[in-house]
Amino acid sequence: MENKSFDVIIVGGSYSGLSAAMSLGRSLRQVLVIDSGLPCNRQTPHSHNFITQDGEKPAVISAKAKLQVDIYKTVQFYNGLAVKALKTNKGFEITTESGEIFKARKVLFATGVKDLLPEIEGFANCWGISVLHCPYCHGYEVKNEKTAIIANGEMGFEFAKL
Ligand SMILES: Cc1cc2nc3c(=O)[nH]c(=O)nc-3n(C[C@H](O)[C@H](O)[C@H](O)COP(=O)(O)OP(=O)(O)OC[C@H]3O[C@@H](n4cnc5c(N)ncnc54)[C@H](O)[C@@H]3O)c2cc1C
Repeated sequence: MENKSFDVIIVGGSYSGLSAAMSLGRSLRQVLVIDSGLPCNRQTPHSHNFITQDGEKPAVISAKAKLQVDIYKTVQFYNGLAVKALKTNKGFEITTESGEIFKARKVLFATGVKDLLPEIEGFANCWGISVLHCPYCHGYEVKNEKTAIIANGEMGFEFAKL
């Protein structure tokens, strides 16, 4: 990539990062989106409760979003992991895993959340498939099926009712 200086670097290029990239790109800011391609919902076969996208595969939603953002020549993409962020006199420097350094006046972190899963054998493999964290996103698909709740105290009671 020739230009290594931007107005804004967005670390994370899933839904939040791409939304920010669209707004900033349309505001004529020079934007770089750095994304390592591991969104939190990557194991989920279908997304729900998201109007216009109900039942769609998460990766298809991202791909559509990326296509729409890609129209704006003000936005560039870099596939990789950002491993270091440094504040400088002029702004920020972001270093990627492969050692490339990008500079920007502003940095926006859209890195999502990391789910901390219990160390139960098989749990991680079933995450988002048959282990479901959100009844609003995935409850309808398993309605009237036998369900086990993993939660503590009042939260467990509320989830059982739900
Ligand atoms: C299992 C599961 C199922 C879900 N199902 C639904 C559903 O059906 N309906 C619904 O509305 N919502 C659902 N959600 C919630 C939805 O997925 C999140 O709200 C949404 O993905 C959040 O988007 P985000 O861009 O903030 O984070 P993410 O989508 O998690 O994206 C973060 C991005 O940042 C990148 N990244 C992180 N660190 C770095 C770094 N250092 N350098 C470069 N890139 C980095 C990651 O690779 C990733 O691409 C689900 C969530 C989970 C976990």
